[in-house]
Amino acid sequence: KFITFEGIDGSGKSTQSRLLAEHLTQNGAQNHLTREPGGAPGAEDIRRLLVEGDPDRWSAETEILLFTAARRDHLERTIQPKLTQGITVISDRFADSTRVYQGATRGDLRGVVDTLHSTMIKKEPDLTFVIDMDPKMALSRGLARGSGEDRFEDMGLTFQEKLRSGFQALCQEFPDRCRLINGNRAPDDVAADIRNHFHAFSV
Ligand code: C5P
Repeated sequence: KFITFEGIDGSGKSTQSRLLAEHLTQNGAQNHLTREPGGAPGAEDIRRLLVEGDPDRWSAETEILLFTAARRDHLERTIQPKLTQGITVISDRFADSTRVYQGATRGDLRGVVDTLHSTMIKKEPDLTFVIDMDPKMALSRGLARGSGEDRFEDMGLTFQEKLRSGFQALCQEFPDRCRLINGNRAPDDVAADIRNHFHAFSV
């Protein structure tokens, strides 16, 4: 199975994807935890090109091409081989991030994103957890995390609100695979909710 986690920065998706992976491991289910952009050696190199440098280092179009190139490498080198071996793959972000971020940021480039996806990626997750969170709370968490190395992390509350709406709309667009999870709760409660959805889905 291919499971993805989506949401705004600081929504707790990295923590939650790790907790689900640990839960599967405890239950003897083989799994591989990965992330985007990145998740394979070449894709991690592309990640550095994406997150480092000036905010306007790339045009919106070039940025979409780089995200798609990284995803293609991730799919070829990591996701597909693991799935073929029967290993569950859990990815912190996947194509939905590009749909929402690049769709919501510089102009409506959703058409470009969709064209590239349908020719170069084609893959959709079996199950997607969209962690919904108040951007004020997420922002304070993001700042508390203090990574600072990421040129995307400075974009402010209005932008985060836009992304939040984008992720909510995504759940309406793909209702079969998306589960909207209330992230404004203690991490353990969120994790329990996610486990319940996961088991309801796998039986
Ligand atoms: O989730 P993570 O923090 O690893 O993502 C790295 C950065 O790339 C984030 O700040 C995120 O907002 C940004 N991003 C993006 N478009 C995507 C995926 C991630 O702008 N499609």
